[in-house]
Parts: sequence; structure tokens; C-alpha cells
Amino acid sequence: MADILKPVKFSPDVAALIKKKQSDKSFTYHCWSDEDLKPLRIEVRNFYRDMQKGRCAYCRKDISLRSASNCHVEHIAPKSLHEKFIFTPENLCVICADCDEIKRAQETMCAIPDTVVARKTRRVRYPCTTNAFYIVHPHFDKYDDHILMVGKFYVDMTDKGGFTIRVCDLNKRLRKFGWEMPPSSDEDLAEVMGDFLATSDPAIRRRKIRKLREMLIFE
Ligand SMILES: [Zn+2]
Repeated sequence: MADILKPVKFSPDVAALIKKKQSDKSFTYHCWSDEDLKPLRIEVRNFYRDMQKGRCAYCRKDISLRSASNCHVEHIAPKSLHEKFIFTPENLCVICADCDEIKRAQETMCAIPDTVVARKTRRVRYPCTTNAFYIVHPHFDKYDDHILMVGKFYVDMTDKGGFTIRVCDLNKRLRKFGWEMPPSSDEDLAEVMGDFLATSDPAIRRRKIRKLREMLIFE
């Protein structure tokens, strides 16, 4: 199942704001951060922060639950390359400050990789299939099918996984600090297994099983 089960539905005020911008010929993607678009950014941020359960769409690390500084609105098809999808709900999600900065740096240098698979004809409507994207798309893709998280590190399981790891530089910690995977003791394993058995909450059980898998990889 994808992380995002349904796209944001804009409030009437924000929908009117978007309509106004879409009819403004001077509007470009550079205007995204303008002050008058703040209500839109807040609405998108709040919606996807909850929908993504407080996790970055690309690295799955925690994002800020209150502040905007570590919870950035992301355009999955880059707004600099696909301006017509700048307000498309399926093209929006939230990401952490690191992923945002790394992708933004590439955008500033005009070297941002296109996440959308090229076609001979221009895309008129937003593509809603997984095959149309190089990147792991939080609306359409199941993250675990493409990327295996092993502790703090990321292993690509598909081309999409590899693309996402590279574009967001997800293994930067490995290069900077080296391999940091302490061996798991029997007590550690027993504790996680105990946590799993002690709850019937499916989300917690899934997290505990994932943790156990990571620990057992190194046995
Ligand atoms: Zn991230």
C-alpha cells in the first residue's frame, strides 16, 4: 500500500486562490514561496504530514509535527520542469529538511533530475501510474517494494529505489560517518519481539516486525 492513500482536497478559499494564480499570466514556479500562497502551503503541509504519519516521503525519517522548517512541501514532478502540475494534489507530499535541501540544490544548479518518464508527446494530464515515474512516488508506490531500510542505511531493490536513493543522497550518513550497525544481542531481539506480542495495534506490529528483520539481517 502506498504511504498516501488519498490526495489533498483543497478548501474553497485555497481552491479560489489556486484558480486566481492559474489565470495570472505572470505566475511562474518561482512564485511558489510568495507570502500570499502561505495558506495553500499550510493546508498541503498539514494534510500530508498527517497522511504520511509524520514521515518524510523519500527517507522516511521523522519530519517536524509543528514547525515548517523540517516539513517541506515537495513537488514530486519538479515544479521547475513541470510547472503545470504545481498545484496538482497528486504531485504534492511533504519531505524532511535534508531531502528538501539536497533536491533544491540540484534545482538551483539546473541539474535536477526529471522524475517523470519522458514521452514523445507533452503530458497534458498528471500521470497517475507508477510506470510514469523514475522516483518512488508516495501516492502510487509501496516504499518497501523499492527500498530496504537497514538501520540508518538504504538498499535499492528496484531501479526506482536506486533513483530515489541517488537523487536524495539517502546514504550520505554512510559516507560521512561510516557503517554504524551495532550487533543485536539476544536481549535486544527478545525486547522487540516482546513489544510485538504485547500490542494488537497493526501499525506498531508492522514497525516491530520491520525492526526485527533489520536486526536479523546481521545475524
Ligand atoms: Zn527525507
